[in-house]
Amino acid sequence: MNSQISLIKQIDALLPQTQCGLCGHRDGCLPYAKSIAEGEAANKCVPGGQPVADALANLLQRPHLQAEESVWPIQKDGRPQRMKAIIRSDECIGCTKCISACPVDAIIGSGKLMHTVLTDLCTGCELCIPPCPVDCIDLVEDQNPIPNDDEKIREQNDLRQRYYAHIQREEKRRLNRKGPVVRAAIDTEFFAQFSKQNEDFPSIQISKKTTETSQIVDAKTTIELAKLRTQIKKLEKQLSVRSDDKKLLQLQQLQQQLDQLQSV
Ligand code: SF4
Ligand code: SF4
Ligand code: SF4
Repeated sequence: MNSQISLIKQIDALLPQTQCGLCGHRDGCLPYAKSIAEGEAANKCVPGGQPVADALANLLQRPHLQAEESVWPIQKDGRPQRMKAIIRSDECIGCTKCISACPVDAIIGSGKLMHTVLTDLCTGCELCIPPCPVDCIDLVEDQNPIPNDDEKIREQNDLRQRYYAHIQREEKRRLNRKGPVVRAAIDTEFFAQFSKQNEDFPSIQISKKTTETSQIVDAKTTIELAKLRTQIKKLEKQLSVRSDDKKLLQLQQLQQQLDQLQSV
């Protein structure tokens, strides 16, 4: 049991802590770490790219697999391009939906007021984009230098802390929640249990047993929406430079899929 916890911790330490859910574990890196420890393939972390897939293969002494592909080009360090979100402030209606979608609390603003992304904290996870009703959040390439290994570890530790603080705040909010949850339901009990077994992990207190799952608007489409929007934006950009019938058809199909998902 202890060795299993220690293995999950070692795996989690290699994951970027973006909490984006692109590995298929919509509530973040720790659930994916647990699943890898239980046997899931270790090449699914999209922002981690090949370096993280290889580091996990080395740790687990498993065969090296090709990392899950990102829609973004590969940077010099072998990981996909780092991105940042920016809000087109003149279009923002101050609905606050992006705030609770952001796993690392990188957005500030309050009801009916313009919102802003704290660029230094933003990981470009894209989770704030699908809930925005007026589609006023863009992703741009991160212009900062690529962090070195030590800086990456510091960044990961900070993002983990911020995510646990976010989970704790959402847990408190759950009791008096009025609006819907706009990101994937988080398995707060698992995070709380894990942090209890690890002194150096931020602690999470459960306020009351979760029973109101019916109230949770499961954001199961959040990741799919984010992927579709990114693909659409990329195609639109390419088509604005050169027309291409195949890409145009692909764009129309993606837009149809997006409309269908948005109407769910
Ligand atoms: S960074 Fe995203 S894709 Fe990678 S493990 Fe964490 S949640 Fe999954
Ligand atoms: S601001 Fe948006 S893209 Fe940036 S970390 Fe928060 S949810 Fe992710
Ligand atoms: S979700 Fe969009 S409109 Fe609403 S506060 Fe955030 S950026 Fe503004």
